[in-house]
Amino acid sequence: MWDVCSTSVVTTAAVSPPAPPADVDQALQRIRDHGGRVTRAKRTVAILLFDATDPLSVDDIVERSGLEQSVVYRTLGQFEELGIAEHVHVGHGGAVYRRRGRETVPVGCRVCGRTVELPESEVRSFAARVRDATGIELDLVHFPLSGRCSDCTDR
Ligand SMILES: [Zn+2]
Ligand SMILES: [Zn+2]
Repeated sequence: MWDVCSTSVVTTAAVSPPAPPADVDQALQRIRDHGGRVTRAKRTVAILLFDATDPLSVDDIVERSGLEQSVVYRTLGQFEELGIAEHVHVGHGGAVYRRRGRETVPVGCRVCGRTVELPESEVRSFAARVRDATGIELDLVHFPLSGRCSDCTDR
């Protein structure tokens, strides 16, 4: 069973993903453990993802790193396969990316794509009520809570 997204292919089968790396060094070690070479691009993207407060779009990463867009896409795809990064869909635009293992959930503006992180504790009781009422466990990361930010409402 494959969940095919615009930017990558994510398995939803029974294979449980590896524990998320705790920091950039562990992320780079995971690349080596899987036979990959730690290139400047991979190191740069890993540092950006671990430093970021909020999820980053491919354009954000291109802008901050100076890397080619195709290199950024390829690197993010490898990071997803290795369980280092995950992507989030906000509205109809492209996905945004964050490191795995955060204890926050993204909340996005469907209009401008701006995505901010909210402590998971803020939505835990809401998610539990939804599960009790519907039997559905919300995935608040892959398809996060979304709406319209104040900038976009004022416009
Ligand atoms: Zn997806
Ligand atoms: Zn907005």
